[in-house]
Amino acid sequence: MAAAVYNPFENAQEQFDKVAALLELDSGIRELLRQPMQEIHFTIPVKMDDGSTKVFKAYRIRHNDARGPAKGGIRFHPHETADTVRALSMWMTWKCAVVDIPLGGGKGGVVCDPHNLSETEQERLCRGYVRQLFAQLGPNRDVAAPDVMTNAQHMLWMLDEYETITGGRYPGMITGKPVGMGGSLGRTEATGYGVIYVLKNLLSEMNMPVESTTASIQGFGNVAEHAASLYSQLGGTVIAVSCWNQADAKAYTFRKKTGCDIEQLAGIKDAFGSIDKDKALALGYEVFPGEEWLKQDVDIIIPAALENQITPMACPVISPSVKIICEAANGPTTPDCDELIRKQGIVLLPDFLCNAGGVTCSYFEQVQCGMNYFWDKEEVFEKLENSMTKAFSAVYELSVEKNIGMRDAAYIIAINRVADAVKLRGWA
Ligand code: NAD
Repeated sequence: MAAAVYNPFENAQEQFDKVAALLELDSGIRELLRQPMQEIHFTIPVKMDDGSTKVFKAYRIRHNDARGPAKGGIRFHPHETADTVRALSMWMTWKCAVVDIPLGGGKGGVVCDPHNLSETEQERLCRGYVRQLFAQLGPNRDVAAPDVMTNAQHMLWMLDEYETITGGRYPGMITGKPVGMGGSLGRTEATGYGVIYVLKNLLSEMNMPVESTTASIQGFGNVAEHAASLYSQLGGTVIAVSCWNQADAKAYTFRKKTGCDIEQLAGIKDAFGSIDKDKALALGYEVFPGEEWLKQDVDIIIPAALENQITPMACPVISPSVKIICEAANGPTTPDCDELIRKQGIVLLPDFLCNAGGVTCSYFEQVQCGMNYFWDKEEVFEKLENSMTKAFSAVYELSVEKNIGMRDAAYIIAINRVADAVKLRGWA
């Protein structure tokens, strides 16, 4: 059977349509919410180090800003498409709504592979992105952040370009900045930690002590590393992690049955989350093909890399030992899998609840920038854990009350909040 080709935007719309029908949402609101309100597609010319000019395709898409300024990361990826950005912007709307922060949903992307760009070329690309778009950005309009293959340095170049053009200091224009330059302490860890705060709550509901659980993780970038780290600190055992290897252009799974040492693995990975295969072998890790992470006999699987990783083709290879899928990445499970997963007796923590720690901390960063007063790390983590726990409890209780999956419960809460904002504004 040929593998189906999944379109993330169609997935996002399918998930929305299902819940909109359940909620008997007014047709005008339904039409408004099932697509972005604004899309900007543009090109960025970049002077390369060798004197040539390369042109990159880029996007900024605002799904909905009824609840507040649009918020969402900028992704650098060679396979970026308008539909990926559309889906991600839509998921941002639901994500901000489910954790009840006063922000809407947006997303950006550039079709590029930063592995192949020098630092100065990356800087010119970041500045070019803002030069084309500055009038549409700003703390009260649309606030960008890091995502796949973008980092704090990229954000600071973007902020500097924005401030150079507009002639002021607007630290709340972008989040995920370096600490000391308007960044919040804890932002680096926030998404991964948020994943584990939610997982911890679910484990407690399922009477599974975290110390007796094992996990397998796809990805070892920003989200995956910090999720793995907190999960290990709490006593959980990470059996395997999988990541992309640029040199071989393929993914590998690294396994240690006694448990991976997350700090050790972090010490042998590059800035893009690729673990050095030879060093891992030397440290006693078994190395398998990339997809093996999904087949491990563990309690929890945490997809924390890319979308469309758990498909109907992949579902049957998931070990019967797996009790929880913790969606740290955006859109890692295709909609046609939710029912299969439920039938396999697996509980699914949906992406836009699970990975909302990043945007929640980004919101904290904006709040701190607005006050020009910064909290210490403990305060950030305490506030983050409170927000994630509150959001989890609402979703979990609704899922139990209505006997539905947590994805549908999270959608019901988020869509209702956004639909209310749309109605209150008189848009529909
Ligand atoms: P990242 O670029 O830091 O890391 C991505 C990781 O995925 C790397 O370890 C890479 O090697 C791995 N990877 C890529 N292709 C792979 C493949 N085919 N098989 C196995 N591993 C592969 O990205 P990130 O910031 O950690 O984001 C990961 C996911 O989490 C994305 O879906 C992103 O949209 C989502 N997310 C990120 C944040 C955030 O704050 N960074 C917030 C919310 C959601």
